[in-house]
Amino acid sequence: MELNLLVFCYLLGSVTFIVGLKMLSNPVSARNGNLVAAAGMFVAIMGTIFLYEDEGKKLGNYGWIFAALVIGTIVGTLMAKRVKMTAMPEMVSLFNGMGGACAALISVIEFRHLIHGYDPATYASTGYSFFSSLDGTTMLIIFLGLIIGTVSFSGSMIAWGKLNGKIKDFAFKGQHIINLVILVLNIAIAAFIIVARPEETPLFFYAILLLSILYGVFFVLPIGGADMPVVISLLNSFTGVAAACGGFLYDNKVMLTGGILVGAAGTLLTMLMCKAMNRSLSNVLIGSFGGGAVASGGAGPQGGTYKEISLSDAAVVMSYANKVMIVPGYGLAVAQAQHICHELEKTLEAKGVEVKYAIHPVAGRMPGHMNVLLAEADVSYEKLLEMELANEEFKSTDVVLILGANDVVNPAAKSDPSSPIYGMPILEVEQAKHVIVNKRSMKPGYAGIENQLFFQPKTSMLFGDAKKALQDLLAEVRSI
Ligand code: NDP
Repeated sequence: MELNLLVFCYLLGSVTFIVGLKMLSNPVSARNGNLVAAAGMFVAIMGTIFLYEDEGKKLGNYGWIFAALVIGTIVGTLMAKRVKMTAMPEMVSLFNGMGGACAALISVIEFRHLIHGYDPATYASTGYSFFSSLDGTTMLIIFLGLIIGTVSFSGSMIAWGKLNGKIKDFAFKGQHIINLVILVLNIAIAAFIIVARPEETPLFFYAILLLSILYGVFFVLPIGGADMPVVISLLNSFTGVAAACGGFLYDNKVMLTGGILVGAAGTLLTMLMCKAMNRSLSNVLIGSFGGGAVASGGAGPQGGTYKEISLSDAAVVMSYANKVMIVPGYGLAVAQAQHICHELEKTLEAKGVEVKYAIHPVAGRMPGHMNVLLAEADVSYEKLLEMELANEEFKSTDVVLILGANDVVNPAAKSDPSSPIYGMPILEVEQAKHVIVNKRSMKPGYAGIENQLFFQPKTSMLFGDAKKALQDLLAEVRSI
């Protein structure tokens, strides 16, 4: 009876993951989707704690389990409540790394069970004879979980450090060869253990753990600038696959379903991101796209002079336009200017101006960043144009208002083969009649490179923090 109830808990968990994931695909239902999946996860965890039995024995260790649950819940809740919207990608990276570490720890624990038996006395009396009778598939899954989970952990930690600016891009000559050697060595050691079952197995096992940590570090360190979104979603899919390995080991269906869903969703997102950047995955991983990009940004503008526009002029140009396209970027998120931006949109629409938003897939610092930000401010989803659609509409747009975006509108991506972002599709804002750029200075964006758009004759700069500039602009528009 209890077993059936447990199976039901797992089924419920699996279904909520699928429903929750589906709901995440729309900003309106995303928040509830998250809650639905979290509720399913809660049921699955509680089911495991209270209903799981192995040969009539319950899990036990309730003190340890609940102490860990309470600590994890408090830390997780506090972090999630305190995190700034712009620091979300760092937190996603950190949490993803923790998931990878958990999956790797499952492999470490199960490996110890394999060689020592669940009872240390068994090991003392039988030595490795117990281990040598084990099937290769179990060991293969243990090694897969160990390697993938550990790479995800160490890679995510480096990504976390890079996103919060504490770790700089780092590459040296021949790094890709070293990465390849580490990977091949790891696979060879794992195969050797499975086939030969040597006396030194524990030593080899921990060598795999160490090499996997190194691989994760070397794999993410050189990947810089514009490629971080791809790497983050790739690491996310690694954690999913590693968790699915744990599901295989424990024959736990909900863990398997959850792991496969994360793995598949992460892989799809990685492919979509690559498509959005117009690059192949191998190119992203080997090319260090955007890494060391600062070198190409200069101290001073090479493209001549830029011109500024006053608030009142900007308000007039926008109020008398037929169509205005807003391009949100990272700076809008930093300034938390989404609500005031929505106010400006409504005010312009009341004056008969058509207002839309052009959304670049890697604008901001996490996949879907701009959609989440604008949904938070109740901007209608119908007003958000994806890049391809927006690029078709710029020709018929009178004014483009760029709010804290830089790399995603940089024409060097199309015209300068030496640029580190060359090949990345961009929002082709220069096709519109007027371009107004709001940012605080002439400093570069994430990729660290100069933007010639700012020096073009049809571009005017509106300097200042996005929130303050929009508040003042709104007041001017209202006074017209
Ligand atoms: P960028 O990082 O290229 O540029 C943002 C601009 O915002 C800066 O030039 C900055 O200029 C300006 N800014 C900062 N704060 C403010 C403020 N308070 N008010 C007004 N402006 C401000 O942003 P984009 O969105 O154009 O491009 C995203 C970049 O991030 C891409 O290179 C992308 O690859 C990368 N990335 C994206 C991820 C994703 O998943 N979306 C993840 C990781 C990286 P100034 O200092 O002069 O104000």
